[in-house]
Amino acid sequence: MNPASLTELIAYSRKNRIGVGMFNIVNLEFAQAIFDASQETGLPVMFGIPERFTQFYSEVCMTQVCKKMIESAKAPIAIHLDHGKSFKGVMSALRTGYSSVMFDGSSLDYEENVKQSAEIVKIAHAMGVSVEGELGYVGRAGTDELTPDSFTKPDQAEDFVRRTGVDALAIAIGNQHGQYKGIPKLDFDRLKAIREKVDCGLVLHGGSGIAPQDFVEAIRCGINKVNIYTAMDTVAKNFTRASFADFGAYLDYTRGLTAVVRDVVKEHMELFASAKIN
Ligand SMILES: [Zn+2]
Repeated sequence: MNPASLTELIAYSRKNRIGVGMFNIVNLEFAQAIFDASQETGLPVMFGIPERFTQFYSEVCMTQVCKKMIESAKAPIAIHLDHGKSFKGVMSALRTGYSSVMFDGSSLDYEENVKQSAEIVKIAHAMGVSVEGELGYVGRAGTDELTPDSFTKPDQAEDFVRRTGVDALAIAIGNQHGQYKGIPKLDFDRLKAIREKVDCGLVLHGGSGIAPQDFVEAIRCGINKVNIYTAMDTVAKNFTRASFADFGAYLDYTRGLTAVVRDVVKEHMELFASAKIN
């Protein structure tokens, strides 16, 4: 199998009425865990490579590893650039062979976000790669204040999608990256209003920590893709701390790490798939 595009996975999400998870890769164990979760559940998934992580490993090597895994995949899998912050970073991802890219212009002013996103869409589409944009500001729990002003506005979302041609849009509806203090409250009315205004895929970032029933509700209200990272980071840290007490062969530790990360990925994938109404 070849890597799937974001557009293919959004079409899968719509047809099967489930959410597709995107999970970030920290190292080879995380990549293996995400792949194993997809193989064991038969569900599609997205490998996420955040632009900021590529200072810690070679995106060329990691992309090749992902591609090799995908050759024997049972379900469609995409290789996605998460939070591409610069034109240069997105161009590097396109050259490297990602099948999907995100350009996050959410910290730019609106017109500049439209301009840069549209430019990237034009180039990526010519190469057969789909693009996710971001409108509204998701930010980080504990760092950025959550105000309705930073939420995605439905009319502006319509204008943004029409002018840029993005295939998917990351929206801010009360979700934030990192560790929430308590259970976040998502603005479902806003989500439904955005869904009515745009036809592209909708993406929920900052998924870790959202209540299970809220994930299901968000997917039923129109979310197609959910990004998860903090939940994997948390289980990996807890497993590593616990391993210090009884440290055997390093190989046993890495096998154990892959297994705990795989389990948390599977749990989320199965939850997102449970949104389907029969
Ligand atoms: Zn994000």
